[in-house]
Amino acid sequence: MSKYNPEGFYGNERIVEALFQGIETGRLANTLLFAGPAGSGKKTLAAKVARKLFCPNLCGRCPSCKMLAREIHPDYLLISSEGALVKLEQARQLKAFLSTPPNTAAYKVAVLENCHNLTVEAGNSLLKILEEPPAASICILTADSADNVLPTLVSRSQVYTLTALPTAMISEMLIKKKLPENQSWFLTGFSEGILGRALELLEDHDFWQQRQQMAMEIQELLARRRDPLLSSDNWQTFPDRALDFLEYWLRDMVRLQINQDYIPVNKDLQANLEECLANCPEDKSIALLDQCAQARERLQARCNPRLVFDCLALKMWEV
Ligand SMILES: [Zn+2]
Repeated sequence: MSKYNPEGFYGNERIVEALFQGIETGRLANTLLFAGPAGSGKKTLAAKVARKLFCPNLCGRCPSCKMLAREIHPDYLLISSEGALVKLEQARQLKAFLSTPPNTAAYKVAVLENCHNLTVEAGNSLLKILEEPPAASICILTADSADNVLPTLVSRSQVYTLTALPTAMISEMLIKKKLPENQSWFLTGFSEGILGRALELLEDHDFWQQRQQMAMEIQELLARRRDPLLSSDNWQTFPDRALDFLEYWLRDMVRLQINQDYIPVNKDLQANLEECLANCPEDKSIALLDQCAQARERLQARCNPRLVFDCLALKMWEV
């Protein structure tokens, strides 16, 4: 999926409607803040807004639509800090871009990503632009949550919070992409309604391999047929993902132990799950799920991943 592809935006129809109505009535705020987790479509929505501003009919054929689709529109700027701090330099870049009149469109649109991660200087510099926005300019800020953005910036922005998509919508998209039904079911659950995340994982070969390997390892650990430290060696090479897998896996186990009708997220790996259940009583699965939460806290507190995963794998292996 192209990063900017405005066609790739699904769900959150009310937000799109409100934005388009603002554009049609000339009442769109100069500063918009799109909030939502990574993969929720903030960048895609920004491109969609630009597209509507540049070509009210969204024709898809005019030079403006074509330039935007090719990511070369002179009146559209995306400033991406790749997850790192947004610095003064980037705030200045935004200001310089917006302070000259549009080239071909009626507006200039600048998007500044990761505004939950601003340096103080960048925040102050932005504040000045937002207080006196240049004519015909729209500034779109994105952040993981409005709560993590400087209140002075939030108060100057129209805030739109993107919500997760209905699971049926994600499943449908994945099946259209030819993912088998069982794997679609898993990815839909695992991506928690965040389409961008699901699509990224769909294409990630390592992801599927790591998952398969982990399912086998958990099964072997619970049956005490595997050295826990070997698994720890493996898991700590992809710590966050490993914990995500473990958590979903254990949650499936706990729920299946409570309710036999439960359809596990990992239903495509049912045979592995069943052997795990045979070797792990309910109270142990619950305790392990708890250990996972603790492991996550420790990783966030920058504990050594080796120690965190050694401890977790040992707990799985222990009777
Ligand atoms: Zn057009």
